[in-house]
Order: sequence, then structure tokens, then C-alpha cells
Amino acid sequence: MKILCVLYKGGKSALQEPRLLSTVENSLGIGPWLKSLGHEYIVTDDKEGPNSVFQRELPDTDVLITTPFHPAYLTGDLIRNKAKKLKLALTAGVGSDHVDLTAANEKKISVFEVTGSNVTSVAEHVVMEMLNLVRNFVAAHEMSERGDWDVSAIARNAYDIEGKTIGTLGAGRIGRLVLSRLRPFNPKELLYYDYNPLPDDIATELGARHVPDLPEFLGQCDVVTVNAPLHDGTRGLINGALLQHFKKGAWLVNTARGAICDRISIAEALESGQLNGYAGDVWDVQPAPKDHPWRTMKNPLGGGNAMTPHYSGTTLDAQKRYADGTRDILERWFQGEAQVPANVIVSDGQYATKSYGKHK
Ligand code: NAP
Repeated sequence: MKILCVLYKGGKSALQEPRLLSTVENSLGIGPWLKSLGHEYIVTDDKEGPNSVFQRELPDTDVLITTPFHPAYLTGDLIRNKAKKLKLALTAGVGSDHVDLTAANEKKISVFEVTGSNVTSVAEHVVMEMLNLVRNFVAAHEMSERGDWDVSAIARNAYDIEGKTIGTLGAGRIGRLVLSRLRPFNPKELLYYDYNPLPDDIATELGARHVPDLPEFLGQCDVVTVNAPLHDGTRGLINGALLQHFKKGAWLVNTARGAICDRISIAEALESGQLNGYAGDVWDVQPAPKDHPWRTMKNPLGGGNAMTPHYSGTTLDAQKRYADGTRDILERWFQGEAQVPANVIVSDGQYATKSYGKHK
């Protein structure tokens, strides 16, 4: 079989650190194993345009492996017109929105991902980003690096998490972990907005209240975290109109997908002070263009931006989990064994039980 894998280049870091598994250099650690089974394994970071290695190799590829960190966008056009032999698109990580799932269903291409592999990593990151924003950390660190010392200029926009109302948009694996990690901070209230209320025992354990109306939910939160997948119902969801329903000066953390938030509306809301802060690591598209406004946008006090490149779900611990999960999926696939149900996004022309299909 021909297996094509698109990863980012790790350069010197990857050569010095073999645990950087999701790099071209270390190739998810499965190269020798695949070759021992007689498969052809092509690994590249070159993913843009018709002359990229990705698009040139696609026509006779059987299995495509990609990650959300350096997504090879498997569009409807590529699936319908180029990926003639493709049977499986495997996401090494969580979130398969870079694959056109409708076209995958049409062509009966299976789409699997390593569900749950990095949810702890992301949940920790979300809590860190909240603390960063609410406590005005980035501006304080930059001041210290510059050699300046003006405590009041930082403290005038620094608060505690304690006593704040914090809500997650999406209360699945990550959203729930975030709520459980926030509880010891003694927030005023933990809220969630999701299509389905959580079972009573879980909601009670988390101490979280369901607010079924989105604008109402947003209007009650001091801090909002987005933990829903990108699908037709969430693309561009947080736009200029919806931002008006946020409390003035709220903080927003989005580690789900960049395209859930409208690029320009977010920058305008931060610059006007409608948002006091925006943080996350996901961008539309990736790698983010150098002039993407989220790189440099600031609130009126010159802070409130804690954006990073997409790395929350790719700590070394997470890389080990999703590399192992990728191998497990491939082993099952080669042997014709059933997959772990939670890993199946689409199969046999049907959406599995996960979010994407239900909200089309
Ligand atoms: P999950 O367990 O599937 O949970 C997602 C939850 O969001 C589900 O309860 C889903 O409800 C709900 N939902 C879907 N659309 C919604 C909407 N419009 N409004 C409110 N809730 C909605 O997924 P997860 O593991 O928590 O991951 C969430 C997302 O995080 C992933 O899809 C991925 O995009 C992102 N992620 C990012 C990173 C990173 O490195 N930054 C890593 C992992 C994941 P239903 O089940 O009813 O659809």
C-alpha cells in the first residue's frame, strides 16, 4: 500500500529531540514498521498547490495521514478529481475539519482520528490561557523583558479568576475537562452551552449549569472558552453580531478551530475593548500568514493578546499518544479489524456518531 503522510518540518529541534514524533524527520515513529510490512511510506511537509508533494502523490495514495497542526486540506475537489485510490484519511490528533467529509462520504473514504489523544493537553492550555489573559501576564512579561517597571500599568488590567463566571461553548471531552480543572479556582459560576445538556450526575460533579440559549450564555460569562468542532454550524459563528452579546470586556479563549471566529470581527472587538482579551493557538489557515491580524492585535491598554502557534495539543506527551493511536488504527485497518468506535468520523459513506454529520 502507498501511505502518504503530511507533517511539519522539525528541523534542528527534531534531530535533537526524537520525541518530536509529529515532524517529517521523526515521521510518527512508524516508518520502519510500515516498511517492514512492505508498505511505501512517503512523508512530506509540502502541502500547498498542485505541484506540492501532497497533491502530486495523492492520485495513487491508499492511506493519507495528516495532522491538524500542519493540515493538508483534503478538499472536495481533490477527493473527487485526484484521490482516485484513497480509502482512508487518518488524522493523527483530534479534529478532521481539514477533510471535506461530504466528499469523503460520497467516495466512501473512511475518516478516522485519534479521539481523546490530546484533550488533556488542550484543557491544560485553555486554563493557562485564561490565567494569562485575566491576570494580564503577557504585558507584564513584556515589560519585564524591556527593562521597564510600572506595576500600576499592569495591575490596572489584572484580575483573579476567582469570582468570575466562566463558560464553555461545547461541553464534550475538552470542555468538561476545562470545567473540572477550573472548579478549584472558586469561580462565581461555571456555565456551558452545548446542544445537549450533560447527564445530571456529570453536571453536578462539575458544578456546571447549562444555558441553552447562546446569546444568553455569552451575556453571562466573564470568560468564554470555545471547545466545539468546526462544522457548517460553527464556521464563522463568533462574528461581529454575536460579539455584541458578550459582556463588555470579556475574555475569549479559542483552542478549537480558528475559523469558528471571524478574523476581522475578533481584531475589531479587541481593539475597541468589547473583548478585553483573546487567546488561542488555532488559526484560519495554518501556518498563519505573517500579516494575520491576530498576531499583533491589542486591546486599548496595549495587551490582551496571548496567541501562539498551534501547539496546545502537541506537547511531547500528546505526540506519543496520537502517534501510538495512529499505529493502532493502521494495525486494525491492515488486519480488517473493527476500529475503536469513538475514532470513527465517517465510514462506509456515513457519518459516525460524532458532531460533524449531525449539524450539517
Ligand atoms: P468532542 O468530545 O466531540 O466535544 C465537542 C462538543 O461540542 C460535543 O458535545 C458537541 O455536541 C458540541 N458541539 C458541536 N457543535 C456545537 C455548537 N455549535 N455549539 C455548542 N456545542 C457544540 O470534542 P473534543 O475532543 O472536546 O474537541 C473539541 C474540538 O477541539 C475538536 O473538534 C477540535 O477541533 C479541537 N481540538 C483542538 C486541539 C488543539 O491542539 N488546539 C486539540 C484537540 C481538539 P454533539 O456531540 O452533540 O455534536
